[in-house]
Formats: sequence, structure tokens, C-alpha cells
Amino acid sequence: MYPEYEVRRILNRHGYDVFYVRRDNRIKCVCNKFEPDPSCRLCLGTGFKIHLEKYRACRFSASIPESLVGVLKQEAPALVHPDAWVYYFEAAVKPKIRDLILETNSATLDASSTSVFIITAVEPMFFESGTPSFYRVIARSRYSN
Ligand SMILES: [Zn+2]
Repeated sequence: MYPEYEVRRILNRHGYDVFYVRRDNRIKCVCNKFEPDPSCRLCLGTGFKIHLEKYRACRFSASIPESLVGVLKQEAPALVHPDAWVYYFEAAVKPKIRDLILETNSATLDASSTSVFIITAVEPMFFESGTPSFYRVIARSRYSN
């Protein structure tokens, strides 16, 4: 396990920028009467007010059990999810289940070049006891336009 400064160094050298979509659970989106509108551009289908944050991340393809990927139980069971990823984020990110990660190669986040991933598992990683020094996050594709 690595201390926090070491993780930040690795992410700066080997990582790349992703947009982290943080949901504010206290404020519902206007589209969210009974269920959120998956195509809503205000909340990106989360149903809540969102904040976009930019972080360095590393990601790896994940061949992991569906039991871990599918914690949201929104899809048919399968042994391994075809588009699941393991992300590493620095401690400051404090990722949460159901927040989104946007992968894009456009500065404007237009839908044609942006892929949306939903976080299904968050694992704080500790170097010493106390606060996490980084996070390991599992996310799967939600949709790609
Ligand atoms: Zn909305």
C-alpha cells in the first residue's frame, strides 16, 4: 500500500483527467418527480443536482465478479460484466457509490464523445490506520452516446 503523496505522484505521472460527477442527494433535479429522466442533461440522469469536478485517475479493465459490479442490481446476472473498470483516485476525491465518472476527449463534454460510468463499489485504501490514502473504485458503463 502506498502513502498519499506517492499515490498523487503516480497519478500525475501515469494518470489522465476524468470528470467526476458528484450528486447532491439533498437537492432533487426538476426531472425527478417519481423517477429521474435518464436523458436529462441537467443531472445526467442521476436525478439530483450535480457538481462536475476534474481529477487525475488511473483505470484498468476489470475482470471481476458480477456480484461486485452489479451491486445496484439493475441488470441481468452474468458472471463478468463486459465493461467494468477499476479506477484509482487520490484521497481528496472521496468517491461515493452511484456517482458518475465521465470519460471524454472533448472539452465541452458533448454526448457524442463522452462515456458515462456509474460507480458501483468504493474501497478506501489505507497506508496507515486513520484516513484513506487513496480509493479503489469499481465502475461500469451506464450508456455511451
Ligand atoms: Zn434531471
